[in-house]
Amino acid sequence: MPIRDPFKLQLALDHNFKVKICRRCGARNSWDAERCRRCKSRDLRPKRYKK
Ligand SMILES: [Zn+2]
Repeated sequence: MPIRDPFKLQLALDHNFKVKICRRCGARNSWDAERCRRCKSRDLRPKRYKK
């Protein structure tokens, strides 16, 4: 079901895609994180939206 409300859509995009994933343990971290909150690794990758 498509989301038509632009505000909710933006929220959904932020929630789903503005995260960083730890390459070491796979934990989700906040977009601003420089280190993994679980294993303290700096090897984070942004989770990107692909169509
Ligand atoms: Zn980690």
